[in-house]
Amino acid sequence: MREIEERAARTYRDRFAEDPEMLASAPGRINLIGEHTDYNGGFVLPCAVSRRVAVAAGRGGDELYSANFGEARPMTGEKDSSWADYPRGVYRAISAAGGEITSLRAVFAGDVPLGSGLSSSAAIEAATALALDALFGLRMERRELAVLCQRAENEFVGVQSGIMDQYASLLCKEGAALLVDCRSLEAENVPLDLKGADLALLVCDTRVERGLADTGYNDRRAACERAARKLGVEQLRDAREEDLERLSGEELMRARHIVSENARVLEAVEALRARDFHELGRLMCASHASMRDDFEISTPELDAFVELAREAGALGARLTGAGFGGCAIALIQEDRTDALAQEVLRAFERRGLGEPAFYEFLPAAGAEIVTCS
Ligand code: ADP
Ligand code: MG
Repeated sequence: MREIEERAARTYRDRFAEDPEMLASAPGRINLIGEHTDYNGGFVLPCAVSRRVAVAAGRGGDELYSANFGEARPMTGEKDSSWADYPRGVYRAISAAGGEITSLRAVFAGDVPLGSGLSSSAAIEAATALALDALFGLRMERRELAVLCQRAENEFVGVQSGIMDQYASLLCKEGAALLVDCRSLEAENVPLDLKGADLALLVCDTRVERGLADTGYNDRRAACERAARKLGVEQLRDAREEDLERLSGEELMRARHIVSENARVLEAVEALRARDFHELGRLMCASHASMRDDFEISTPELDAFVELAREAGALGARLTGAGFGGCAIALIQEDRTDALAQEVLRAFERRGLGEPAFYEFLPAAGAEIVTCS
């Protein structure tokens, strides 16, 4: 049992003076490659990180408790703009889909950093969904649970997001990435055995407030839609490289990123199948350049990390997530991650950039039922 799962179970026992009936956990995620492709109907390639949200649950009562917030809230309440809206939204979405949930008391404990782009929100949703499914014998498929989690986040919490985070948290496998076709919602595990190659992924959280994120995101989305209209395709996923000649200016730049990024995701999958991590690294670097120059969503901090990672011998590095701040990742020899983190800390200080945080991980398991009594 993982430490965070033990913590959830222990807190449950302290609160309710009995063992939980169900213990489940679900991971956060990073996206290896495929940025802003989701709303263009394209491909993404996330993998689960080794940090998780655990839930200890039992029937009876009406209480959600977060050990992270030290706070209890009712499951059946209305939206109250607190953390409880995530599990509450999942309860609502599952109920609306016909899953009968009579009562619940649940304790959450997580070590996914909140709000830093590793998707703690999908982790708490996925853990909730899997625990409810098992506790009430709903027998829903994981894909269906993921769609319900996304609905909870979009419609109940009110955050617009694609399906990637919830798919990753529920469908990833240890030592693998997950290729998701965001149009058909087909998904496939692709082996990513970094351990066997003595490699690891290092996440650098720049902790830069994603201030421009909302406007930037909406602008990019609108430009992609305009480009698709000009090309007479439904979404940019349907555009080919030679079509780009018919565009100019901002629309050309944005579309060139999407079209090339979609191709890179599929090339990355081929590279993984061939265990060619140098090729994966090359594609990550090309992806970063495209986001920096054509999609214009990078920041000085993200560019600095990518540059320092490459100087330190990383096979590849790129910003991950929507950009305008947030996180970057490097694919690097496992025994060089600490040295890279130290070097980045020193260089950021010298350059007057804010102090970043680091998380090292190997591709981890998706959501799991740990025990049920
Ligand atoms: P991210 O998904 O990048 O971490 P979000 O803002 O989408 O950032 O989601 C973070 C929110 O998810 C937190 O502010 C909190 O409301 C909820 N959350 C995540 N983990 C927990 C937890 N362990 N306990 C309670 N709420 C959590
Ligand atoms: Mg989130």
